[in-house]
Amino acid sequence: MKKKIVILGGGYGGLITSRKLEKLLKDNEAEVTLINKHEYHYIATQLHKTGAGTASDDKITLHIPELLKTNKITFKKATVDTVDFNQQQVHLENGEKVNYDYLLLSLGYEVDTFGIPGVEENAFKIRSFRSTKAIYNHMLHQFEAYQSDKDPSRLTFVVAGAGFTGVEMIGELVEAIPGLCKKFDVPINKTRIINIEASESVLPGFDKKAIDFTTDYVQKHGVELMTSTKIMECSPTSLTLSDGTDLPARTLIWSGGVRGNRLLEKLDLPVEKSRVKVDSYLRVQGKENVFCIGDAARFMKNDTEALPPTAQVAIQQAEVCGPNLIAAIRGESLKTFEYHHKGTVASIGNTAAVGNVFGIKISGLFAALMKQVVEARYLFVLGGPMLVIKQFSKLQKPYQ
Ligand code: FAD
Repeated sequence: MKKKIVILGGGYGGLITSRKLEKLLKDNEAEVTLINKHEYHYIATQLHKTGAGTASDDKITLHIPELLKTNKITFKKATVDTVDFNQQQVHLENGEKVNYDYLLLSLGYEVDTFGIPGVEENAFKIRSFRSTKAIYNHMLHQFEAYQSDKDPSRLTFVVAGAGFTGVEMIGELVEAIPGLCKKFDVPINKTRIINIEASESVLPGFDKKAIDFTTDYVQKHGVELMTSTKIMECSPTSLTLSDGTDLPARTLIWSGGVRGNRLLEKLDLPVEKSRVKVDSYLRVQGKENVFCIGDAARFMKNDTEALPPTAQVAIQQAEVCGPNLIAAIRGESLKTFEYHHKGTVASIGNTAAVGNVFGIKISGLFAALMKQVVEARYLFVLGGPMLVIKQFSKLQKPYQ
């Protein structure tokens, strides 16, 4: 009987594993099913562009069935409800049950709002294509409504968090707002972009050069930086800050932190710090036929530190997880996963970025080009040179 492999989640981890299986499985060796909430894969590392409206929808989303090149994998658009590990069955929200011999959990991340009153209900999240599309639609509505009521809180755009994602979001807003002002005939000096960060500086954990470059860049572009400041409460029309200020604002984009998918905590799994503990072969601890990778997994790089939730980690894990799934069904020995950090580049709009690549610190236009190279490499791994050309020829600024 052919073994059944089921992959949950079509993000970086799930898709790259699927591509690996397509390449390495012999015909009729296994039945593979990939299950994802949507028929499209969103390029999560560019979601801030959807939020600001600086990239077209088809630049950020890729149709999953088109990415799967062979008939070795069946794609199912469905939402996972739960997993019965005893019966080896995945239960879907539509009532369907899918049997597996080997399971891969690659269900990704969720946004963590740390229980701050009003944030969960009122803030916009950089979580998925839909959630970021909602940011842009909300901004359009605010510009439109401002034309009649002239309420300044409509044109006050606040990003909470000046970490990697927060800075990338701010960079896109800097690029998007002038175009929106033109479109809605609103003077640019009526708009405010505010970045609120609890730490003392932007990009905590980055080197001083990157911090200084980013601080100068965003301030030169009119961004109000409020460091050492916390958001204590959020309503649909205002924010309360740690210094007692009441800031009228109708747009809070929350970029304060991420956690593992909450679904994982409902399952009978070893979860620590919201992520599933995995062994060196990427198998869930205590479950030999269940693997977990990407933002959902807690892989310890040493006794005390886990790997960070990044696409880079998810992709590298997928490249090992695919062959390990095949080794498992063939009864061969599995390969241990080793992470090789290649660098980190945070974009600040389309023409500037900061970070380091292979240990070399970079900033400015060159760093922005490197960011494009990183994105192109992912597309290349996913769909070869044709996908790179197709995606890079798509519009960067469709809306303004
Ligand atoms: P995901 O990409 O989150 O994929 C999970 C998939 O599971 C999704 O398709 C989701 O729809 C699906 N899913 C979830 N729940 C269910 C369910 N119940 N049923 C069915 N399907 C479900 N990382 C970097 O390395 N470099 C960067 O430059 C970088 N930039 C980033 C910029 C932004 C704005 C953001 C938000 C993140 C960035 N990251 C970056 C982090 C990176 O995007 C994540 O680490 C990566 O997406 C994790 O991949 P994953 O496969 O684990 O999960």
